[in-house]
Amino acid sequence: MYDVVIIGAGVVGLAVARAIGEASQKSVLIIEKEESFGRGISSRNSEVIHSGIYYTPGSLKAEYCSRGRDLLYDYCDAHNIWTNRCGKIVVGREHQSDDLEAMFHNAQENNVPEIKIIDKKEIQKLEPQVIGDVGLFVGCTGIISAHDLMASFYKKSQDCDHDYLFKSRIIGAETTNDGYELSIGNPNGEIEKVSTQWVINAAGLGSDLAAEMLTADYPSLRFSKGCYYKLSSKWRGAFDHLVYPLPDKEHGSLGIHLSFDETQMPKLGPSAHWVDDHHENYDVEESLLDQFFEEGARYIDGLKKEDLSPDFAGIRPKIWMDENPMPDFYISHEADKGFPGWVNLIGIESPGLTSAIAIGNDVARWVNEG
Ligand SMILES: Cc1cc2nc3c(=O)[nH]c(=O)nc-3n(C[C@H](O)[C@H](O)[C@H](O)COP(=O)(O)OP(=O)(O)OC[C@H]3O[C@@H](n4cnc5c(N)ncnc54)[C@H](O)[C@@H]3O)c2cc1C
Repeated sequence: MYDVVIIGAGVVGLAVARAIGEASQKSVLIIEKEESFGRGISSRNSEVIHSGIYYTPGSLKAEYCSRGRDLLYDYCDAHNIWTNRCGKIVVGREHQSDDLEAMFHNAQENNVPEIKIIDKKEIQKLEPQVIGDVGLFVGCTGIISAHDLMASFYKKSQDCDHDYLFKSRIIGAETTNDGYELSIGNPNGEIEKVSTQWVINAAGLGSDLAAEMLTADYPSLRFSKGCYYKLSSKWRGAFDHLVYPLPDKEHGSLGIHLSFDETQMPKLGPSAHWVDDHHENYDVEESLLDQFFEEGARYIDGLKKEDLSPDFAGIRPKIWMDENPMPDFYISHEADKGFPGWVNLIGIESPGLTSAIAIGNDVARWVNEG
C-alpha cells in the first residue's frame, strides 16, 4: 500500500512528487504510460515563463501563474537551471490600441510587475525587425529549459526513494475502506493492482479519462492542436525579446508568437486547431505554411515564406464547457464529492509549465494535512 500514487510524469506530476518528497517521507509511486518522464505536453510547448497578463483576475490561472512564475525563477536560480528573463512585447496596429490598453489594465489587476505601454519608436528600439504601432512591454516574461526543470524534479523525487512505473497505464480505479485500488496495465500486457491512500491525477491529455474511472461527474477535455514552424538559420539571434500578436480569442490561444530557446533559434507558433477525438497526432501539416507566413509577416519585417519550415506540434487539453475557448484550470481535492484523497488536475494547459511548482506545493500541502 502506497501513501500516494501520481498518475502522469509530466511537469505537473513531477512537481507534485518533488513537493511531497521535500515535505514528508511518504511512500510515492508515479505511473507513466510512456517510457520516460516528460514525453507529453510538457516537452511540446513554447517553454515560456508567463507573466500572468492574460488571465481573468481571481481565476486559478491568474493565481497559479503569478505565484508559479516567481517560484519558478527562484527554483531555477537555486538549482542552476537555464532561464532567460528576456521580456516580451505584445504588438498591435493603431486600431488595436484599445485592446492593448485593456490588456494592460488586466495585467495591473493581476499585479504583474514590469509592464508598460510602448509606442512605435520604442518597439523599433527594442526590436528593429518588428513591425507595430503600439505595444505592451512585459519585463518579467522569460524562457526556460522545460526538460532540465523536469530532470531536476525527477532527480529530487528519486532521491526520496519514490518508485516509478514506466510504460504502464492506469486503466481502472475503485474505492476501498482506506483509499483506492488502481488497475494498471503493465508493459507485459498484464494487469497489476496497487492500493493507495491518495491518488493525484496529473495525466495531462488523459486526465479527464482518469477522473471518469471513478465517476462521470468531471469536466471533459477537447484537444486543441498547436503546430510550430522554425525560422531558417539566418534569423538566429535576430531577436532579444519574445514577440506576440494580440490573443486569438476565437480559438482560446495566445496567437502565433515568436519565441526562441537557448540556441537563439527563433520559431513561430503555436497555431490552434480543434481535434475531434482524443487522438494524439503530432504531425506538423505543411499546408499551414501560408497561415504561418501571413501571421508572422504581420509583425516580422523581411520575413519570407522560404524562411519557414515545419518544426513540432503540441496538444492543449482544453476543458470543454459551455463552448468556452478560454476555460480555467480544474484543480480539486474531491473530498466534497465523496472521494477523500483523490485530487484531479484537469485542463492544465498554458500557463501550466509556469504554474507547476505552485500547483505541486498546494497538492503536497493537502496530502500532508490530510
Ligand atoms: C502548444 C502548447 C504551448 C504551451 N506553451 C506554454 C508556455 O509557453 N508556458 C507555459 O507555462 N505553459 C505552456 N503550455 C502548457 C504546458 O505545457 C502544460 O500546462 C504542462 O506541460 C502540462 O503538464 P502536465 O504534467 O499536466 O501534462 P503532461 O506533460 O502531458 O503529463 C501528463 C502525463 O500523463 C501521462 N498519462 C496520460 N494518461 C495516462 C494514464 N492513463 N496512465 C499513465 N500515464 C498517463 C502522459 O503520458 C503524460 O506523460 C503549452 C501547452 C501547449 C500544448
